[in-house]
Amino acid sequence: MEQTATVLDPASLLVPGRECGTCTMCCKVFRIPEVDKVAGQWCRHVAQGRGCSIHATRPDVCRTFFCHYLRNGQLGPEWKPAQAKFVLYTEMNGKRLVVATDPSAPVAWRKQPYYAQFKRWAAAGVGQGGQVIVFNAKRATAVLPDRDIDLGIVEVGDEVIYRPSRGGIQSGIDVDVRRRAG
Ligand code: SF4
Ligand code: SF4
Repeated sequence: MEQTATVLDPASLLVPGRECGTCTMCCKVFRIPEVDKVAGQWCRHVAQGRGCSIHATRPDVCRTFFCHYLRNGQLGPEWKPAQAKFVLYTEMNGKRLVVATDPSAPVAWRKQPYYAQFKRWAAAGVGQGGQVIVFNAKRATAVLPDRDIDLGIVEVGDEVIYRPSRGGIQSGIDVDVRRRAG
């Protein structure tokens, strides 16, 4: 599962006036090989409450990442990752919303108002190819309108595929994980 590449300047998509401030949550949740960083642990370069101690020379993957909170003006301050304890971003040209959780608060996404909003987004995505997937490290959960499905470990390159239940889309959605070959 990789971030979707874009030819636009990512900074041009940001909500005016919205900024990271003291948040550094994406410097914890993601695996960033460029700085020998594993998922779920603080980057050795993070300056808590201030940002990145190597700001001028940070790798491109850090330079070009802007989470969904910075891009979606509909989200209130409670969605700021430092408070929510998860980072939102999109893949598949915006069709998949990924919720990357802080390992120290792995079920924060189930609190309100977050959980109800995830369900609304899941419902809005039915028939549109939309997905809402929560990651706690590599363990993934598909949030569907009527239930949540534990997908187990999902690796980079695995495909998460939604399909209508046997009775058709009105009967609900089933989810498969197609494992990367090799
Ligand atoms: S998680 Fe979002 S708001 Fe927080 S530091 Fe990263 S990009 Fe900025
Ligand atoms: S290099 Fe800087 S921006 Fe990138 S993860 Fe580390 S602290 Fe964050």
